[in-house]
Amino acid sequence: MARRHVLIGLGPGAIAAAEAIRGADAAAEIVVVGADPHGYYSRPGLAYYLANEVPEKWLRPFTAGELAGLRLTIINARVAAIDPGGHRVTLDGGRALEYDRLLIATGSTAIPTRVPGADLDGVVKLDDLDDARDIIRRSRDAKAAVVVGGGITALEIVEGLHAHGVHVDYFMRQDRYWRNVLSETESHVVEQGLRDGGVTVHNFTELAGILGRDGRVTGVETGDGTRIPCDLVAVAIGVRPRIELAQAAGLDCARGILVDDYLQSSAEDVYAAGDVAEAASHVTGRRTMEVLWNSAVVKGRTAGLNMATEPLHAYETGVPLNVTRLGGLHTTIIGTVGSGKDSDLEGLSRGDSDTWSELGEAVIVETEAAGARVRLAVGERSLDGAVVMGDQALSFPLQELIEARADVAAMASGLKATGAAIADLVEGFWREWKEQLV
Ligand SMILES: Cc1cc2nc3c(=O)[nH]c(=O)nc-3n(C[C@H](O)[C@H](O)[C@H](O)COP(=O)(O)OP(=O)(O)OC[C@H]3O[C@@H](n4cnc5c(N)ncnc54)[C@H](O)[C@@H]3O)c2cc1C
Repeated sequence: MARRHVLIGLGPGAIAAAEAIRGADAAAEIVVVGADPHGYYSRPGLAYYLANEVPEKWLRPFTAGELAGLRLTIINARVAAIDPGGHRVTLDGGRALEYDRLLIATGSTAIPTRVPGADLDGVVKLDDLDDARDIIRRSRDAKAAVVVGGGITALEIVEGLHAHGVHVDYFMRQDRYWRNVLSETESHVVEQGLRDGGVTVHNFTELAGILGRDGRVTGVETGDGTRIPCDLVAVAIGVRPRIELAQAAGLDCARGILVDDYLQSSAEDVYAAGDVAEAASHVTGRRTMEVLWNSAVVKGRTAGLNMATEPLHAYETGVPLNVTRLGGLHTTIIGTVGSGKDSDLEGLSRGDSDTWSELGEAVIVETEAAGARVRLAVGERSLDGAVVMGDQALSFPLQELIEARADVAAMASGLKATGAAIADLVEGFWREWKEQLV
């Protein structure tokens, strides 16, 4: 009899698993249960949709035909409970679904602020398409907004509101933007980019309360008692994995659902993938969380293969990478580049990885030339991480060298020398390295 796979979530984790299952087993029954009424779309793309740069239809990673080709049964509903002993899930409304293998890929959700006034109408977040539509709709009447938080999402909301003609005051609790990932100079470049675009950036400024009248936002109060009038308050202080279902079912959880090297949870036949899965890195052995689209795809693919076939495939952590835009500058972040904590975030932000702030003994070298700012974390024999801002010509070579853990001993001392032509060294080394691979 065909094996029945039930996948909870309709994001890249679940869809990559569905593709892997279908590739391995043409006869399998694959049921995907997703609570989002808009189906499968690109969440990273929401930033560009919010900023009026792409239409909504461009957010679809698959055409309807491609999705149909996977022969999935898609149910638009919320899973209310999992019964691992009975191999059954229950949907809101009471319908039960039995499974042979279950995947939990429920993603993560924005952490709400707890300041007084947080429940007023006009306090917004950016988790999904409905949130993006809501911000766009509210922007039509809004004149001013306050954005609080850190990481990529805060800036995406800042830029989105700004694109709709809303004046933005952006609050940071500390001296600079995203201090556990970016260098001081990079933070300042981003902040200056925002200021140049007309955003008012407030360092050392804490949101103490949200003010309102008749249930609607009218302004905010900062930690030092300053009041700023506004119509909207956007909160991006990090995300937390949606582990409630797994916890209620008795699965082992820490920050996320704890999974082994094969992405299997503590319950038999139950797997987890995507933002919600807390797996150990096969390189460092440490458990890491990532809120990255591509990581969700790799985890989903591995979990799907293991649900459908034997022998089991171990999950291989890639080097976490994001290509994004910060303060108007194209920015690529790869591997370990920072350390410490960012007090503007209570959890990882969207498009973020624990690994980025796990910088060890590497030496940092930086250069700025021809419209590109490049910072490298150089180990004894390896490049451990890189940030490329502005011109992206070096982004791909660095990505390849870091991902392949290429032996860069021959270039390392040159990179660390005073006044080194870092960009030329990397480019030349990468070309030779590529030739040797052929
Ligand atoms: C605004 C924004 C910007 C981002 N920017 C970047 C970026 O620049 N780079 C990057 O790599 N990543 C980025 N991300 C993160 C990336 O989109 C996520 O890491 C990725 O989508 C995670 O995939 P997932 O499958 O784990 O979960 P998700 O894509 O979150 O999907 C989970 C799904 O599960 C559903 N669900 C939850 N609970 C239930 C339930 N009980 N029953 C049924 N369904 C349920 C949800 O409705 C959701 O559809 C961004 C995300 C957002 C929102």
